Amino acid sequence: MNISTRARNLVPSATLAIGAKARQMQADGIDVIGFAQGEPDFDTPDHIKEAAIQAARDGFTKYTATGGINELKDAVAAKLKRDNGLNYTRNQVLISCGGKHSLYNVFQALLNPGDEVIIPAPYWVSFPEQVKLCEAKPVIVHTSEAQGFRLNRQVLEPAVTARTKLVVLNSPSNPTGAALSRAELQGIAALAVERGFGIVSDETYEALVYDGYQHVSIASLGDAVYAHTIVVNSMSKAYAMTGWRLGYAAGPAEIIKAMDGLQGQMTSNPTSFAQRGAVVALTGSQEPTHRMREEFAKRRRYIVDRLNAMPNIRCHSPEGAFYVFPNVSALYGKRSGNTAITNSTEFTTFLLEAARIAVVPGVEFGNDNHVRISYATSMANIEKGMNRMAEAVAALG
Ligand code: PLP
Repeated sequence: MNISTRARNLVPSATLAIGAKARQMQADGIDVIGFAQGEPDFDTPDHIKEAAIQAARDGFTKYTATGGINELKDAVAAKLKRDNGLNYTRNQVLISCGGKHSLYNVFQALLNPGDEVIIPAPYWVSFPEQVKLCEAKPVIVHTSEAQGFRLNRQVLEPAVTARTKLVVLNSPSNPTGAALSRAELQGIAALAVERGFGIVSDETYEALVYDGYQHVSIASLGDAVYAHTIVVNSMSKAYAMTGWRLGYAAGPAEIIKAMDGLQGQMTSNPTSFAQRGAVVALTGSQEPTHRMREEFAKRRRYIVDRLNAMPNIRCHSPEGAFYVFPNVSALYGKRSGNTAITNSTEFTTFLLEAARIAVVPGVEFGNDNHVRISYATSMANIEKGMNRMAEAVAALG
């Protein structure tokens, strides 16, 4: 049987692929340090686990309503009010099997073939692929390293056409960690309202921000932009719950209803007892998240300093998430033995082989001058990994 064009055209997730390669090397006894993974190295806090275990013990193991239990929708609405100043009712909230699934539902609910979706680069790998799965067209807008990879109205506006249906915001960003200021968001919000396109605001990393940066949800900047925005968030990063597969979307009721309908024919509800854990995560103590953030903040400072101390490497200090995105292009043209390094993929292979550290090539995120390094690994690993990288880079001829 022939594989569909849709499936054949899909670019597999590079981050998952490199993580898998590093894990295979580790399984083969090679001491590889993983900087490729996009998940906290912390365990899910116990009180969250206990709630899910108790729910399973209580027999809360059957189908739930497709779009999630009311208790969790209410907890999401309360969180959006508490942290973001946003008002949503139950019929404006949908719980899905991960933020990735929430995004997929949004795109499937809104996009027709030929619609244009503006995606700022560097971008998270799934945005363009999910848009393409709707036969819509990703329109990539490049942000500059000099401006800290931050999008603003001036950079966005030239890409807007009559076919622009959505712009995807991801602040703080995977892979750059860049987070937008209130003023930048206000400019983008005004443009969306004037030109009539929607905003998908992926706020997955909002809890992980540093140096006093305050996350702002674009939907909170006025009634007009609120009506144009679908906010997407995830339990994965803020609560170290990647494997639980829970994310959510909030937005206009008719869009949420369409997403619920799609979900009803795809996955049905997210796991019943996992939802009970998520209720406790959102309504209980946020202390574990704060502690995680403090630890990430220390690692970020250390890794940025180490990278900037390496010759020919330049690393912007990002506002949030747990990634850095150093520029390594000054090393292109240098040689390791007989092999020349000419792009981010070759540099990544060089690091894996010569330094036994796994990073992700920037080309996968739409910028070949950089690599993505995740600092969601222990300080001891970061120190060891940066020592190895410094040594390997210094040996390049
Ligand atoms: N959005 C961004 C920007 C991400 O980096 C990720 C995960 O890496 C997600 C969404 C989805 O997370 P999940 O599907 O685990 O909720």
